Amino acid sequence: MESDVSIIGAGPAGLMAAIFAAEFRQRRTKTIIFEANTAAGRKLLLTGGGRCNITHDCDIKDFARAFGEKQRFVQHCLYEFSPQDLRKFFADSGLSTKVQEDGCVFPVSEKSSDVREVLVARANRAGVQFLYGSPAANIEKIDKKDSVFTISSGKGTFVSKKVIIATGGLSYPQTGSTGDGYRLAQRFGHTIIEPKAALVPLITREDWPDQLAGTTLSDIKIMATFENKKINSSGSLVFTQDGIGGPAVLDFSRLITNYLSANGKSIAVSIDTLANTNEAELEKRFLKLCEQNPKKTLKGLLALLYPQRFAATFCERFSFDGNKIARQLEKSERKKLIKLLKVLPLTITAARPVEEATITHGGVSTDEINPKTMESLVCPGLYFAGEVIDIDGPCGGFNLQFAFSSGILAGKSAAESAIESNRF
Ligand SMILES: Cc1cc2nc3c(=O)[nH]c(=O)nc-3n(C[C@H](O)[C@H](O)[C@H](O)COP(=O)(O)OP(=O)(O)OC[C@H]3O[C@@H](n4cnc5c(N)ncnc54)[C@H](O)[C@@H]3O)c2cc1C
Repeated sequence: MESDVSIIGAGPAGLMAAIFAAEFRQRRTKTIIFEANTAAGRKLLLTGGGRCNITHDCDIKDFARAFGEKQRFVQHCLYEFSPQDLRKFFADSGLSTKVQEDGCVFPVSEKSSDVREVLVARANRAGVQFLYGSPAANIEKIDKKDSVFTISSGKGTFVSKKVIIATGGLSYPQTGSTGDGYRLAQRFGHTIIEPKAALVPLITREDWPDQLAGTTLSDIKIMATFENKKINSSGSLVFTQDGIGGPAVLDFSRLITNYLSANGKSIAVSIDTLANTNEAELEKRFLKLCEQNPKKTLKGLLALLYPQRFAATFCERFSFDGNKIARQLEKSERKKLIKLLKVLPLTITAARPVEEATITHGGVSTDEINPKTMESLVCPGLYFAGEVIDIDGPCGGFNLQFAFSSGILAGKSAAESAIESNRF
């Protein structure tokens, strides 16, 4: 079977690439998508805890800035298809979106399955042919001059003018992203920046977080100083079986996982457990609560500010008598308590493995991809989109938007180039 554009992987990047390739200039470019799983977008279903944080509501420059040193590369994709374009795309397909106070954008239905449905339906309407249960095992270029590829999969060998690799990274391999794209790209001579965990829960030396597994603190700041730099991130924190996770911790992990794995060292961090209340305000609030609740025990009073389990464990771990009447606390003890709530010490010893990460840091080197087209600079006719590329952003919808935008840019560029080659 022959096609104009073949896409490897039906995740968010591959689905968008397929739609925009097939719809390009109303030409119905012959487009095939190979998917290893029996359905599209398995990871997409898990996103945002099943609610799918599709993008972040901010302008292109601010959006790109979140990708640090990769911002210029990302900017090209965003000018092709911005967060606003994405919201319009879904609205036009009947899926309205809403913006949270923190800028995160979700479908109004809060269902990632709705996002997948829109993408698959639109691809079907555009005439994209889906080959499910069909992992691409090998891609070869049969004609260097005319850039014609063969793709070998369980369903036979296929010929295609252009190929887009959108196989994702290494995180959550049970969803299908098992690093195939790296191997396929390497065969064409691409450099793979070592894939590592980014946005991943962290392991602590202290074991008291284990007792709180599943408990959330919704307004924290996690801070550290290392290599003479102050780093921090804010948001919510979730205690886990062996440490801490949740959006603020995942974002923080992006800043330290390289350091942790390179040095095998630990990092001392402190947690501000109520980041939007400064120390003096917190003390005032505590005193007011004492006044209003003269009979409350310390752990009962703290439970008015924090989850009950945290209040009890905090008292126990830091040697405060949780059963003491709160207003009977000595001033020095109160000061110590407030201080600890603002700079709660923890020691990070390691990060959870890449398989448990939200996103993979590393992948196909951006130095070898044209950011204006997503075409390989090593092998003309080959394109990349999504997490397989060495790009990772913070939590908040940044990674899905990059997957969508890079997919669209790759899809359009590959279709345009295939149409051009049809002319001769
Ligand atoms: C738990 C979790 C929650 C997340 N939540 C969010 C969120 O709310 N917002 C956000 O912005 N980001 C989120 N992310 C990140 C986001 O899911 C990824 O950035 C995004 O899915 C990357 O899209 P992709 O298409 O590049 O790769 P993937 O989604 O990984 O898709 C790759 C596809 O390629 C297929 N494939 C792989 N190899 C082959 C092969 N050889 N042949 C054929 N097919 C193949 C796979 O089966 C898979 O379907 C989350 C990630 C996780 C794990």
